[in-house]
Amino acid sequence: MEFLESDIKFLKGVGEARGKVLASELGISTFRDLLYYFPFRHIDRSRFYAIAELQGTDLPALQIKGQFVNLRIEGEGARQRLVGAFTDGRKFIELVWFSKIKTFQTAFKLGVDYVVFGKPSFYRNVYSIVHPEVEIFDPAKPPTGFRGVYSLTETMRKRGYSTRLMQTLAGNLFANKGFATIPETLPREIVERYHLMPLQEALVQMHFPQDARQLQKATERMKFEELFYVEAHILRYSMERNAKLPGYVFTTIGEKFNGFFYNVLPFQLTGAQKRVLKEIRSDMRTGHQMNRLLQGDVGSGKTMVAFMSLLMAVDNNCQGALMAPTEILATQHYETISKWAEPIGVKVALLTGSTRAAARREIHAGLQSGEINIIIGTHALIEETVVFHRLGLAVIDEQHRFGVAQRARMWHKNKVAPHVLVMTATPIPRTLAMTVYGDLEVSVIDELPPGRKPVTTLLRYDSNRHEVDRLIYSQLSQGRQVYIVYPLIEENEKLDLKSLEEGYRRTCETFPSFRVCFVHGKMKPDEKDHQMDLFVRGEARIMVATTVIEVGVNVPNASVMVIENAERFGLSQLHQLRGRVGRGADQSYCILMGKIKAGADTKKRLTIMTETTDGFLISEADMKIRGPGDMEGTQQSGLAFNLRVADLARDGQILTRAREGAMAVLKGDPIRLDAAGKAIMEREMTLRFSRSDDWSKIS
Ligand code: ADP
Ligand code: MG
Repeated sequence: MEFLESDIKFLKGVGEARGKVLASELGISTFRDLLYYFPFRHIDRSRFYAIAELQGTDLPALQIKGQFVNLRIEGEGARQRLVGAFTDGRKFIELVWFSKIKTFQTAFKLGVDYVVFGKPSFYRNVYSIVHPEVEIFDPAKPPTGFRGVYSLTETMRKRGYSTRLMQTLAGNLFANKGFATIPETLPREIVERYHLMPLQEALVQMHFPQDARQLQKATERMKFEELFYVEAHILRYSMERNAKLPGYVFTTIGEKFNGFFYNVLPFQLTGAQKRVLKEIRSDMRTGHQMNRLLQGDVGSGKTMVAFMSLLMAVDNNCQGALMAPTEILATQHYETISKWAEPIGVKVALLTGSTRAAARREIHAGLQSGEINIIIGTHALIEETVVFHRLGLAVIDEQHRFGVAQRARMWHKNKVAPHVLVMTATPIPRTLAMTVYGDLEVSVIDELPPGRKPVTTLLRYDSNRHEVDRLIYSQLSQGRQVYIVYPLIEENEKLDLKSLEEGYRRTCETFPSFRVCFVHGKMKPDEKDHQMDLFVRGEARIMVATTVIEVGVNVPNASVMVIENAERFGLSQLHQLRGRVGRGADQSYCILMGKIKAGADTKKRLTIMTETTDGFLISEADMKIRGPGDMEGTQQSGLAFNLRVADLARDGQILTRAREGAMAVLKGDPIRLDAAGKAIMEREMTLRFSRSDDWSKIS
């Protein structure tokens, strides 16, 4: 321990001045920090690899000697790429280029010995290297070694810090006699059961790998450890929660539910809706508080599921609440749900920031007396003054706008915590859901109501402006409505606002015979509502907006969604936006306006949108590209830690095992830790999570 906590300035080769730089630039202030400051990538130029040797993920950038057997161009437009089939004489690997396609195609010859260098990734069952370095094989060129590359800041580089220096420092750590004293951080039982590399060895291999296989083993060990403790932490909390929190028992399927189901329900439920309702129903009968996440793509009919679940609460003498992130959305829910509720005599009220004082008092009273059965609203629902008679179920729509703590405020005055159903249209990949939500149950509506046509998605550029305008015009002439969306990001708000205003002006000029409305986040709420309303009522036929429309509005007559500067949106966001159209039976269009000069990655990203409308595929792809840290999913959950080595998008398998191990240990079955093992876990958990609070209690 002493060794690990030593001030970095005492390490041989560091001293006062470098110590300061390491601390301020990289946050390295102790020996431990440096030990865990792993190279961000590894380069293996020690030898040539056989393609057959490649296995698993986490491979370093490495060299393969061989020949091209063919080079062909695949895809069209933005998805065009050059794919070279490259063989070492026994197996094949794909080499892929997204830019300078023609140059490379003519530069590389078949039947010539090349050395290719790059990090292989495993995708669709083959290994491939994107944009590898390629050079003609030169037998006279000596191999260089296997080394890690450390990430350094610009300031450090200017002051002469280099990967080489970092290597020297890491080497000095390992040479220090203290190193041999650092304790194992995983219980012996876990190390053995999961065949993990012991800690000390793994640390050495991370910095100075012997070969690709050892590096993989070391990486796996470090990832496993990280995920193991994250899971243990989450699971421990959720076990406590389950033990502690009883829930209302909803035994009856009663009058309201049946009355609605048989007499009012305007369509047949989809199979998926029925299944999910069954899952919710059986959860709410157990006597434990339900914590369920309902994932369903935009337009999959989550509102109906929410409403029918709320009826279950009402049938069992409880109240229900539906909380939406924006006023517009809350109002829309209120309008929809009132229509369904009225014929069966269920009283619904709407409470938002703009509810007037008198009405508000009345609603507060109705909630306290129990006269109001279902309350729909925004943040206004979580104010101190709101007291429920008996809140049995809280449904939270589009959860990413609400923090966990915020949510819990709604029922802090309840004796019994209500069941909680969180609905999201941002499908969270399974691995992420698992990590973030511990043992939260997940339901998925994986079926759209019948009769929808998939939205046609096109990637277009400024040079195609005319064609896009024609498409818009033709849809407008058929009576349809159009969204034109601009990005708005805080950092260059002024610039964005300018392009939004220009877009508005241009749109008005291009389509003079149609009314255009204009909405952005900086508007006064009144004005915004007015503009939205114009569009919802069909008076305005075009809406020029920032992403304020991202969540929820339902205008089935809208058939075109144009997204300007599409490259600035995340895939999940694009998917959400696209979900605003295609709600009717006619063909709808989503047009992504891209930059012709956008890089290969951007084009690849946008191309995914044109290839699939499956929200899950998109969100997985998004996570792979952006990393889970940026996903709405992580922020909304308050995932309070940063994963340093593990990557939720790629390490699903390790996560599954780490979780299984954590569960086994916490339950004491089938892994029973000895005293030493328990001590290790306690120490590590305290070290890692001592600052964290209640976030894992996601309700
Ligand atoms: P989301 O899941 O995005 O919240 P909504 O609940 O707004 O979706 O539903 C989208 C539209 O589909 C609504 O107009 C809704 O009335 C309709 N809908 C929901 N379920 C069905 C169904 N089973 N059959 C036909 N239409 C449905
Ligand atoms: Mg919805």
